[in-house]
Amino acid sequence: MTPPPIIWRHDADFERARVGRVFNYRRPSRYPIAVVEASEESHVVEAVRLAIEKKCRLSIRSGGHSWAAWSVRDDAVLLDLGQYKGIDLDEKTGIAKVSPSTTGRELNGLLQAKGVMFAGGHCPDVGLGGFLLQGGMGWNCKNWGWSCEQVVAVDVVTATGQKLHCSETQNSELLWAARGAGPGFPAIVTRFYLQTRPAYSHMRSSFYTYARKDFKQALNWILNISASFDPDTEIVAVGSYPPGSAESCTTILLVTFKNSEEEARAALQPAEDSHPPGTVTSVFNSETSLSNEYTNQGAANPNAHRYRVDNAYIRNDADVAALLEDAFTTLPTKKSFSLWYSMAPGTKRPLRDMAFSMQSDHYFATYVIYEDEAEDVVASNWVQSIMKGIERHSEGAYLGDSDFQVRRTRFWSDENGRRLMELRRKWDPEGRVCGYLDAGDQSRVNGLPNKHEWKL
Ligand SMILES: Cc1cc2nc3c(=O)[nH]c(=O)nc-3n(C[C@H](O)[C@H](O)[C@H](O)COP(=O)(O)OP(=O)(O)OC[C@H]3O[C@@H](n4cnc5c(N)ncnc54)[C@H](O)[C@@H]3O)c2cc1C
Repeated sequence: MTPPPIIWRHDADFERARVGRVFNYRRPSRYPIAVVEASEESHVVEAVRLAIEKKCRLSIRSGGHSWAAWSVRDDAVLLDLGQYKGIDLDEKTGIAKVSPSTTGRELNGLLQAKGVMFAGGHCPDVGLGGFLLQGGMGWNCKNWGWSCEQVVAVDVVTATGQKLHCSETQNSELLWAARGAGPGFPAIVTRFYLQTRPAYSHMRSSFYTYARKDFKQALNWILNISASFDPDTEIVAVGSYPPGSAESCTTILLVTFKNSEEEARAALQPAEDSHPPGTVTSVFNSETSLSNEYTNQGAANPNAHRYRVDNAYIRNDADVAALLEDAFTTLPTKKSFSLWYSMAPGTKRPLRDMAFSMQSDHYFATYVIYEDEAEDVVASNWVQSIMKGIERHSEGAYLGDSDFQVRRTRFWSDENGRRLMELRRKWDPEGRVCGYLDAGDQSRVNGLPNKHEWKL
């Protein structure tokens, strides 16, 4: 074993190591004591030992895409897994063993050559580590389920530096927690075992773009048809400024995964036949691919920008179009976007027994994107005013688009939230692994209260 590189706070290279891989350019002024750049599993154990020796906490970075830069914590050892890479597919079982810093694009790039895919995140460069621990809203989540449901086992290094394999039959409570604990998982995952699915030969998409004034008509249309739509088709509504447009528009996008031209066309036809007239632009059944969709997602979420993000699972009985109108039609910058992601009918089936336990038919998220630090306040105020209107009509929120320093709400069912915090205390009683970053980084071993803030 070669020892891992350790970059200390006084080293010239420290700033690169601290935030160079943080996606959101709204970089935090929090300062670890050192960054361990792991490239093999033994380095993870070394990092835990270092944190124990220095009597400090350990934070973890896989892909660096958490919006609130959860990996960057004051006076902690930061374990950066960016150089620790590995993908190994067992072609007989279809199970891929994957390191946490592997991205969706890297994984599917390799898997597709072998005729399988993993329904991971939409953005090419998100790390599987943070994504899967939060639940993972992957391709066609509304029908194929949460990505964490395809995690069949994990290898971890515990808060005391012990290596464990966790499956349904071994250390199963840690697997239970790894499927939905998010950044409060009380150990470090070094390997995910993922059940892949057969790849599709014909990915096709349709979209229908409407002027701002037609937002409600467009959204009510898609709300009416999405729960009973074709089971291999994901559906999203996006409020954004299309390139060159002076006003924001609403685009309804459908992406289907099929194995023949006929199947794809038949899947998308009901939307083509029923969409309201008056589109600004529309495309029916256009050829696409995972690689093409990754490129589009990458363009919608540009690098080297500042982001302010929030989200909610809207209650099924809410008037969704009325509730989301301002979020879609008053975007504060031209690069920003808001989305409604269809989650039904998947929400009707009981979830497996796992920490992840929060969902509704309607996922809403908003992403304010800008470049200039001077716009931080405007961005934050806009998001806060939008969420104020929406949060009381929500069941809770998704960890992946949340910042607990700003807004606290429910992330799990009451029972699962309680069990998860108990497991945190059991597996990491000293609070070695940083966990949930709330205001002032106070939550530590107790974790989150898992309650709507306005009810506290
Ligand atoms: C552009 C963009 C697009 C996105 N698209 C999607 C999407 O389509 N679907 C979706 O569900 N989410 C999406 N997200 C949200 C994303 O899943 C989360 O931000 C996630 O935290 C990113 O994971 P990461 O490993 O890249 O982040 P990191 O910042 O590296 O990790 C976040 C935190 O997770 C924990 N963690 C990470 N790795 C480990 C590990 N190995 N062991 C223990 N704890 C660990 C740590 O607490 C860490 O601080 C998107 C985010 C961005 C920025």
